[in-house]
Parts: sequence; structure tokens; C-alpha cells
Amino acid sequence: MQTIWVIYDQLWTGNSAFSGYTAGTSRVLMIESDASFRKLPLHRIKLAFFISAMRHFAEELEAAGWQVDYHRHGDTKDYQSAIRSHVEKFRPSSIRVLAPNDYALQQAIPALEKKCGVPIESVPTNQFLLSREDFAKWAGSGKSLRMENHYRAMRKSLRILMTRDGEPEGDTWNFDAENRGTVKDWEAAGTPRPSPAPEIRRDEITERVIFEVNDAFPKHPGDANNLWLPTTRGEALTWLRHFVEHRLGLFGPFEDLMIEREPLLFHSVLSPMLNIGLLTPMECVDAAVAALRSETPPPLRSVEGFVRQIIGWREFVNGVYWLRMPEYHAVNALAAEIPLPDWLWEGTPPMHCMEMAVTQVRDTGYNHHIQRLMVLGNYFLLTGCRPQEVLDWYSAMYVDAHDWVMAANVLGMVLYADGGFMASKPYAAGAAYISKMSDYCNGCRYKPNVKTGPEACPFHSLYWAFYDRHQTRFAKNPRVAVMIGSWKKRTLDEQNEIRNTAAAWIATHHPN
Ligand code: SF4
Repeated sequence: MQTIWVIYDQLWTGNSAFSGYTAGTSRVLMIESDASFRKLPLHRIKLAFFISAMRHFAEELEAAGWQVDYHRHGDTKDYQSAIRSHVEKFRPSSIRVLAPNDYALQQAIPALEKKCGVPIESVPTNQFLLSREDFAKWAGSGKSLRMENHYRAMRKSLRILMTRDGEPEGDTWNFDAENRGTVKDWEAAGTPRPSPAPEIRRDEITERVIFEVNDAFPKHPGDANNLWLPTTRGEALTWLRHFVEHRLGLFGPFEDLMIEREPLLFHSVLSPMLNIGLLTPMECVDAAVAALRSETPPPLRSVEGFVRQIIGWREFVNGVYWLRMPEYHAVNALAAEIPLPDWLWEGTPPMHCMEMAVTQVRDTGYNHHIQRLMVLGNYFLLTGCRPQEVLDWYSAMYVDAHDWVMAANVLGMVLYADGGFMASKPYAAGAAYISKMSDYCNGCRYKPNVKTGPEACPFHSLYWAFYDRHQTRFAKNPRVAVMIGSWKKRTLDEQNEIRNTAAAWIATHHPN
């Protein structure tokens, strides 16, 4: 009998490792690797989400007649010990697994084969729409890659939102410029509120997992009791349908907005399920495009924005990951060496925008993309935090974070640590952006338009000090050269005051 090894983030029977195998002729191996769960202090909601989803999937397989050899984290040190025990007990002729999404696990397979005494066949992943090889072919040997070019190529090859003449629907590839609704726009629209996602069912499996996670990982952040995500495919599909029917329409216009009392706004929050296999990328895209063809369609700009997140960003960051690992993990083009502030883990962040994002992620394991990029990420970029520490923090805290998704997002997009390989400019912003795109500044001890003195928003000095530090690198970048020019026009006294204020902030909040 052969074995199919199902990794924690590959939980669907359309997984190619199942292809050609049946319940009668093969057995499934599933492993909750305690060592993997402890590599980083993973948020307890994330752990409960992974483990509950795994156990539900195992239950579904058993109900469909599969024999499942399931190894729980309390009894399982790591993948090697679990595979070895499986081999000793069942003597499979081989083990088949979908190519791991994680580089380190993929690299570990030859050693696992040797130490466990069984051939392990890794089959190409079908969890993405573009293979690693095809992405590499598309990327060629260019010194930089742009998501927008990749996205257009994907639209064309998959024929999504394309006219019969091969043109993008709506005569434009991307509606980003229209999809930047501000707080004022939201107020002008009557402050629309999202319809909350359907509540998840707390069955015995989930209750048991919550207890175990809180008991076994007491030092990890978060509280597993607050698990709020679907852990079965059925529930995930309900969430997808609900999003398309009730929130997709306003997703586009307000996708960059941040409202204190509505942290999720119109975001789909499907990425956690998508990234562990409870949903597939194409069914999410198909659902949104089908809505566009319905009698009461959402606006094209909303559908396009959602489709771009999946066939654009998701595929792109995965492609960059496999193209650039393992050296990508060590990039630090801006020589950023400042440690993370302690208040990321405990205590209250001193700035209200940071407090909102950090409190939300501690409570739920989730922030939407602008909170991640333009509040937290912006702060880490401007202060010059060490890229690998930032990557670890994002990877530990977010329920949808996996190494393949976070490496390029954090190192490339958020921190510009790859020197512009995947972003044409650093995503640096001052207080004006946060003030326009959120209602956070209302509750802050600082004022976004105050530049000096105790009420001055820290983003002001941090922003200009960033361009001061990196003026040589960015002077010739057409997208930011104007900022360098503006910095150089300031008087020496102004420049020194900004430098000193930024340095004092970093010394106070980022002690070594
Ligand atoms: Fe953030 Fe500055 Fe606004 Fe405070 S004033 S919330 S620190 S942007």
C-alpha cells in the first residue's frame, strides 16, 4: 500500500498527490509537527486554525473511506519521527506528497527519505495557477520584476476579464487609481458598513484543539479561544459566497481604507483558507467573475481588484519566493539594523495607528493589506528595522502567513530589502497618508499636521530621516527623486532637527 502525505497547508482532495490513488489502495499520513509549530512563536489562533482544519480534513477523509494515520502534536516531535513511525508500522512502498510550499521543508525531503528508509515522491504543486518553472521562464534573468507585468500576462493566459479582442475589460488593466476611497469618500457615501461573515461552528474537534493549543503553547501570543475562521471546506465556501454577495461590491472603492471600528471593512479574509487548501484560487476568481455576469453585478473595479489579489499578487509573491530562495531570506539592501520595539509583543504602542494595528493582530491574527503595508510596514521601513526580525514577526502573527507569502511581501514589498527586485520604490509614507486613509489620527496623542514639538507626529521626522539616510540610493529613482530634491532644499537647521528627532525616537523605542 502506498501513502499520501498531506501537509498541514495542503488540505484538499484535489491536491495532485491524491491523483490516481483511491481509498482502497492507499493510506493518508498527516502530521502535526510540534517542532514546526515552535520554530516561531506562532499566534495561538493561527495554531488552532491549522490544527482544527487538519483534524476536520482527516475526519472528512475517514468518512470517505480513507485510512488516515494521524500524528497529533502532543505525541509527535517532528516530521522525521512521525514518518519513521509510520514506515515502521505500515511499511508503505513509497510516500507521495504534493511539493511543499515551504522551501526548507522541500529541501528536507531527501534527508527524510534517507533517515526514514522510504522513497518520497514530491509531485508538482497545483495549489497555484502558475508553476514554479513557468514563473521562472516568465521572469527570465531580469534584474527586477514587476507584479503588474506578471498580472497582465496571467490575465491574458487565463483569459480572465478579457474581451474577445484580447483587450482588458473596461479598457484598463487595473482600477487602482479609482480604488483609493478615503475617509471623506466613505463618509460621503454614508459610512457603509460591511455585512459580517457567517459565524463559524464550534464543534468538539475545534473545542478540543482550542484547549490543547492554549495548554501547550502558553507563551505564544493570542488566545485560541478567539478562533474566528472557518476550518472546513464547507464553511470556507460559505464565506466565499457571503463575500461575493455582500461585500465584494464595496471592496474595490474602499480596499485601502482603515476604520477603527470596522477593522475588516469589505475585505474578503479568504487568504487564510486559500493558503491551507480549503479554497482554491480559481474557484475564488470564478465566483467573483460569475457575480460580474449576474443580473445585479458588483462594479468591475471591485471584481478586478479582487482578481488581482489572487492571480496577480498571490502568484507573484510565490513565484519570487521560489525564484530567489534561499538567498532571499538574507537580503538587506538598505542595511537596516534597528531591533524591533518591545511593544510589538507586549504593552501599548505609543502611536494610535500602530496601536490599532498591533492590538487587532494580537486579538485576531489579522490586519488587512494597508494596515500591514502602510502602517506597520511603513513604520518598520522608516525606522530601519532588521528585515529578518520583521519577517519573523509577520510570519508568527498573521493567520494567513506562510514563508512563501511573507518572504517577498515583507522583504521585497514592505521593506525594499531586496533593493527593488520586486518594487519600483519604497512604500514610504508620512502622516498625511494615514490621516487621509484612516480615522486613527483622531484618537492619537500626536497630530498628523504638526511637524515639531511634543505633538508632532513621529512619522514626520522618521519619513524625512529615511530619505536623508538613503538619498544616494534613491536620487536617480524617478518615482522618489522629487522627495530627495525636497529634502535637499531644507535648511541645515531643519535637516538637523529632523535627524535628531528621528534618532531620539529610535533610541527611546528601539533599545538594543
Ligand atoms: Fe499615526 Fe501620526 Fe496619525 Fe498618530 S498622528 S495616528 S502617529 S499618523
